[in-house]
Amino acid sequence: MERFDTIVIGGGPAGLMAAGRAAELGERVLLVEKNDSLGEKLLLAGKRRCNLTNAEPDMEKFLSRYGKNGRFLHGAFSRFGPTETLAFFNQNGVPTKTERGNRIFPALPPEKSAQGAQRVLDCLLVYCKKGNVRILRRSEVKALKVKNKRIERIVTNIEELSADRCIVATGGKSYPKTGSTGDGYRFAAQAGHTIVEPTPAIVPVKTHETWVKLARNFNLRNVRLTATVNGQKIDERFGEMEFTNFGVSGPIVMDLSSFVSDWMKQGTVGLVLDLKPAMDLPTLLARIDRDFEKYRDREFGRALVDLLPSALIPLALELSDVPGDKPVSYVSPEERQDLARLLKNIPLTVNGLWSFDHAIVTKGGVCLKEVDPVTLRSKLCENLWFAGEILDLNGPTGGFNLQMCWSTGYAAGQGARVESVVN
Ligand SMILES: Cc1cc2nc3c(=O)[nH]c(=O)nc-3n(C[C@H](O)[C@H](O)[C@H](O)COP(=O)(O)OP(=O)(O)OC[C@H]3O[C@@H](n4cnc5c(N)ncnc54)[C@H](O)[C@@H]3O)c2cc1C
Repeated sequence: MERFDTIVIGGGPAGLMAAGRAAELGERVLLVEKNDSLGEKLLLAGKRRCNLTNAEPDMEKFLSRYGKNGRFLHGAFSRFGPTETLAFFNQNGVPTKTERGNRIFPALPPEKSAQGAQRVLDCLLVYCKKGNVRILRRSEVKALKVKNKRIERIVTNIEELSADRCIVATGGKSYPKTGSTGDGYRFAAQAGHTIVEPTPAIVPVKTHETWVKLARNFNLRNVRLTATVNGQKIDERFGEMEFTNFGVSGPIVMDLSSFVSDWMKQGTVGLVLDLKPAMDLPTLLARIDRDFEKYRDREFGRALVDLLPSALIPLALELSDVPGDKPVSYVSPEERQDLARLLKNIPLTVNGLWSFDHAIVTKGGVCLKEVDPVTLRSKLCENLWFAGEILDLNGPTGGFNLQMCWSTGYAAGQGARVESVVN
């Protein structure tokens, strides 16, 4: 078989960027992908529109979105951060635009917006092609043979490959149907690496309460969700969410979900939903009094029509102690106060996360202490590099996860090349 300087395992955004960069610098690169096609998960990104990065201008704030592990990304971002990412795509045929929440997407007319992810993938494929990256599809890496702290051979379902350097960019465990089945954790472990337990992140949350299904799929806007551990507030979000058959989902829930597995190790995790965050308790109570005066001839359930969307009334009736058919003029001041308190404090108890099948990203992965943050080279195995979601790095929605892939992919590709020049 033809001899290659670098083998990249995994043809997702991180692997394609790493392969393209190493080849651009002169490496002979082979990219090995187990699927028929490359970038299957990338093609789903941002509902196929691809939120490829974020326009947050303050780099410290940007890095803080990855939690405490964000510090690791300083080196890779200073080489190829959001600015360089935008320049890369813009100069290679993908103009971009910034939307709500600083989210950056390919700029396309509305009828073509779902082609955004394909444009991004095409751009990366052209980048790899320019550098003559050889691509081996339908080739699944099964194991790495490691000897004397070096990768000697890469065993695939078809053959054994060897190269001077190897970049592992096999992604995490989320959305396994796209090919990200966590294989790379096994390879990293074969090279001596520690794997921080992978858990689903950016994923719907399961709750003990079964009444959630009474309002399932109804989109709640402008609500506040407070997370608690053992009754103590630990975090909160304001925005949109929804109930599901088994719990809660939607943007603010998905955002909090990344921390839930850690919080569950500390104790009982609760969520407190405030349906009326714009009103304090007395204001809400006055509003209830006004509505009940207006509908004084109705029963309780039908007097809530101005206060709540109709989809939420069955849920309010289920949680309130007041029967829905009680005449509103008989609803006591205490019962009105209880209603106001309830609408601002609907309690939920978390009992887990949905599985990796539904998770946008994986939290956990290759332990960052064992990887050089500038070159992404393994500190334990001298001809091994990592890039992308396989690392113990994850951010919220908003383009942060792909940005991490571009930055670490570029740095790993460059790191591998620099190593070959030095030796
Ligand atoms: C539905 C959805 C929407 C998303 N939208 C966004 C978004 O808009 N913005 C954003 O920033 N992030 C988004 N993400 C997250 C983002 O897509 C991932 O973070 C990113 O794809 C990770 O890239 P990666 O290259 O590290 O891994 P992956 O994209 O998982 O690619 C890994 C590749 O390695 C291959 N591979 C795995 N094992 C082997 C093996 N043994 N041998 C050979 N090949 C192997 C896989 O087949 C795959 O092609 C989204 C994720 C999902 C699921």
